[in-house]
Amino acid sequence: MSLPDRWLVLKFGGTSVSRRERWDTIGRLARERADMADARVLVVVSALSGVTNELQAICDGDSVDGDGVAARAAALAERHRAFAVELGLDPDIVLAERLPALRSLAGDARAATRALDWQAEMLAQGELLSSTLGAAYLRAQGLDFGWCDARDWLDAIALPNQNAWSTRLSVSCRHEADAGWRARFAAQPARLLLTQGFIARHGDGGTAILGRGGSDTSAAYFGALLRAQRVEIWTDVPGIFSANPRIVPEARLLARLDYAEAQEIATTGAKVLHPRAIAPCRDGNVPMAILDTARPDLPGTRIDASAATVPGVKAISRRNGIVLVSMESIGMWQQVGFLADIFERFKRHGLSVDLIGSSETNVTVSLDPSENLVTSNVLEALAADLAGVCRVKVIAPCAAITLVGRGMRSLLHRLGDIWAVFGRERVHLVSQSSNDLNLTFVIDEADAEGLLPQLHAELVRSDAMPMRDASVFGPSWHEIANGRVPRDAPWWRGKREALLRLAARGTPRYAYDLATLRARARALNAVAAIDRRHYALKANPHPAILRALEAEGIGFECVSAGELQHLFATLPALDPARVLFTPSFAPRVEYEDAFARGATVTVDSVEALQRWPELFRGRALWLRLDLGRGEGHHAKVRTGGSEAKFGLPVGRLDAFVTLARNLGVRITGLHAHLGSGVELPAHWRDVYAELAATAERIGTIGTIDIGGGLPVPYLPDAAPFDIDAWARGLAEVKALYPQFALAVEPGRWLAAECGVLLLHATQVVEKDGVRRVGCDAGMNALLRPALYDAYHDIANLSRPAGDPVRDGGLVAFDVVGPICESGDVLGRQRQLPADTAEGDVLLVADAGAYGMAMANTYNLRALPAEEVIE
Ligand code: ADP
Ligand code: ASP
Ligand code: MG
Repeated sequence: MSLPDRWLVLKFGGTSVSRRERWDTIGRLARERADMADARVLVVVSALSGVTNELQAICDGDSVDGDGVAARAAALAERHRAFAVELGLDPDIVLAERLPALRSLAGDARAATRALDWQAEMLAQGELLSSTLGAAYLRAQGLDFGWCDARDWLDAIALPNQNAWSTRLSVSCRHEADAGWRARFAAQPARLLLTQGFIARHGDGGTAILGRGGSDTSAAYFGALLRAQRVEIWTDVPGIFSANPRIVPEARLLARLDYAEAQEIATTGAKVLHPRAIAPCRDGNVPMAILDTARPDLPGTRIDASAATVPGVKAISRRNGIVLVSMESIGMWQQVGFLADIFERFKRHGLSVDLIGSSETNVTVSLDPSENLVTSNVLEALAADLAGVCRVKVIAPCAAITLVGRGMRSLLHRLGDIWAVFGRERVHLVSQSSNDLNLTFVIDEADAEGLLPQLHAELVRSDAMPMRDASVFGPSWHEIANGRVPRDAPWWRGKREALLRLAARGTPRYAYDLATLRARARALNAVAAIDRRHYALKANPHPAILRALEAEGIGFECVSAGELQHLFATLPALDPARVLFTPSFAPRVEYEDAFARGATVTVDSVEALQRWPELFRGRALWLRLDLGRGEGHHAKVRTGGSEAKFGLPVGRLDAFVTLARNLGVRITGLHAHLGSGVELPAHWRDVYAELAATAERIGTIGTIDIGGGLPVPYLPDAAPFDIDAWARGLAEVKALYPQFALAVEPGRWLAAECGVLLLHATQVVEKDGVRRVGCDAGMNALLRPALYDAYHDIANLSRPAGDPVRDGGLVAFDVVGPICESGDVLGRQRQLPADTAEGDVLLVADAGAYGMAMANTYNLRALPAEEVIE
C-alpha cells in the first residue's frame, strides 16, 4: 500500500513524555491525526522532564574525576530503566545500546576539559533515551512506528560571527524546502515516525544542540522541510496565554495569533514556544498549533498568517537573567564611530545584543541569556575590551518585562496605569520596537517579583485594551483549570418588569435590592475569624441600607461629622460602640463630636496629637498606619505609600507612641487600609500579620482593623471575590495572633451589587463610524467611569437579549451622558441591541456603591432619585 505524501508534525515536550498514559495519548493522537488528515505523522520528542537539566549539570560540573558525573549519569540510567519498566518493557533489551553509551560518555577523556563537542553529545542523550523508549512502547502497542536519528536529517548551519559555544550548543539548521531531502525522508517505510528534538548534525559530523527548549524548533524545521500540513506543539498548558499562566492564573488563552505576534511573545520570554520555532513555519507557510497533552480536546492556540489583528496589548512576558551593559563615552559628544567601536567588540566576543537605549553620552544594551552564554568570564573579557573606548558598568541580574501587541505606538497614552506601576521601580531601560509590536521595560530582577499579575490586572481593567474581547481572548487559565466559576445571574435580570415600572416614574433613578444587600451581609457574618464588622457608609448612606445592615448586626464606619449625624439620625438607638470614626484631615470639631457621641476615633498623624493635646488627653484611640505601599484597582483609590495622604508612616510609630504615653492616651486599635478593589485574597492576611507584629510591640492593642477594599466583579468575566479563601487566610493568621480582635470595614463589597442606575436613552447618533447612545444622565449620576475608568455592565432593559421578535443582533455603542465634558462616557464599545433607540430604558449595573454617594449637580442637572426594592 502506498503511503500518503502529506505530513503532520507533532512535538511532545518533557512532561508530555514522562508518564505511560501520556505515551498512550501520543500513540492515539498520531493514529487519529494520520487517519483524519490522510497523512503521515512525524512525532518529535523531548527528553523526560528534568533530564536535560541533569545533563546540563553534568556538562557544567567542574569536578569531572570525582563521583559527581558518574553518580549523576548512573542516576539518570536508573531513571530510564525504571521508566522502561513502567512502560512494560525490558530495560536490558530496549536500552541495551543507550545506557552503555551514556556511561562511556561520562567517562570520556573530553569530559576533563568539558569540550563543547562532548557537551553536545552528553546533552543529546536525553532525547535519544526518551525516543528509544517511546518507539519501543508504541510498537509494543501494535502501532507501525519507525524511529530515526534526527541528526541524520537536520544539518546545523554556521552563521557569521558565532562564537564557539553557539556554533555547537545553540545552532540553527537548514530548513529550505528541498525535494530530494523530502523524498529521502519519505522513503522510510513506516507510516508513523518518531525522532528527537533538540539535536542536529554539526558540520564536522558530530552532534550539535539547538539550545534549551529547542525541540520546538526541531519540529518547526521538520515541518518546513516536509512542507507539513501543520506543526502541533503538545505541552503542559492548553495554549499560549496572555501571560505565563503559572504566574498569572487570570491570564487568558490566546486562541489565534499571527506569526509576528507569536514570534514576539516567544522572543520576549514565553517559554511555551522556542523563539526560533516560528520563522521556519512562517517561511514555509506551515500553520502551528499549541495544545495540551493532558487535555487533548481543548482547542489551544492556532498560529497562522490569517489571524485577525486587533490593536492593543495581547500578552505580557518576562525574561530573567538579563545583563545590561552600560557604556559611558569618555570621548567627545557624538563622536563619529563610537557605536561602531563598541558594537565591534560585542561581535568579537560573539555576543548578540538585544535591546538598546542611547543618549548623547551613554549607550546601554541588553544581553539575553537565551541567545548568549553570558558567564562572568565572557563579561570580564568583554568589559576589558570595552574599557579602551568607554567606561563600562554591568547591571545584572535584570528582568525585561514586555507588553506585546499591535499598534503599541498609538496606545502609549492609554497605558497610564502601567506607567504608574513601573513608576515604583527603577527602570534601567525602556525600548519600543519600530515594528510597533512591543514595549519593554528593564528593571532589577528583584523588583520584578509580583509585577506580572499586577500589570495583567491593569490591562484587563483598562477600557482601552481588547482583553475583554472574547473573540481574541479565550477563557482564563484559572477557569480552564477549575471550570468556570458559576456566577449567579444578577438580581435585576429577574426584575425587569418592576424596574421598567420604576424607570417610568422618571430617570435617572437608582434602585437598591435589599435582598442582595442582606445576602452579602450574611456572607460576611459567616466569616468566623472576624470579630467586628463595620459598613463604610460613604459607599451608600441610604437610610434603608443602613437599617437593613444594622438589623444584620453590622456596625458602621464614618469619615465625617456629617456621616455620624446622618447615621445616628437614621438609627437613634444605635450603640456607639458599633461605630468607628476614621476621618482624613478633618477639623478638630469633628473629633470632638465623635468623642461626644461615644464613637471609636482613629488618628493617623503625630501632628494631630501635637496640635490638640487636650482633645486627646486620657482617651482611648485607634491608630491608622501606612504600611508603605498602596494597592487597589486604580491609582486614585490606593491609600497607602508616600503618595497617599492617609496613615502614619511606620517610621514615625515610636514618636506617636511616646507622645501618646505622655498624654495618657491608650492606643487600643491598629488600622491599615491599603486601597480598594484588591483582588488577591491573601492581601488582608498579610496586612493582619504585619499589624499584629507591630501591635505586639505597642502592647496596648486590643483590635486589629484590616480595612476594607474587597473587590466586586464588575467585569463580565471577572470571578466573584473568593470569600472562602479570604476567610481561610484570616483564620490561619488569626490563629497566630489570637490575642487580638479582628475588625473589617467593607463598603463597596456590601453595597455595589445591590444597586442599579436606570436611565432613558435620549439620542442615538453615529459619528465617523462610532455609534453613541446618549442617556439622560452620565457622570453627574455615576462618576466612577469618568473618575476611575471604572467598568459597569450596561443593558438595554427595553430590549432584552434573546428576544425572538427582534433579532437585529448586538452592535457596539459608546454609552454617553448629557454633561458637557468629553469624559462623560459610561462605557465604551458596549454590545447593545442594534435597534436601541430614544426612550429605551438602560440599566447600569453594580452601581450601589459610590454611585448616588458621588452624584452631583454639575451642569445644574438634578440629582438622581432613589428607590428601594424590599
Ligand atoms: P515543554 O516541556 O512541553 O516544551 P515548556 O516548559 O518548555 O514545555 O513550556 C511550557 C511552559 O511555558 C508552561 O508550563 C508555562 O509555565 C510556560 N509559559 C510561559 N509563558 C507562557 C505563556 N504566555 N503561555 C503559556 N505558557 C507559558
Ligand atoms: N530537552 C531540551 C530542554 O529541556 C529541549 C526541549 O525540551 O525542548 O531544553
Ligand atoms: Mg519547551
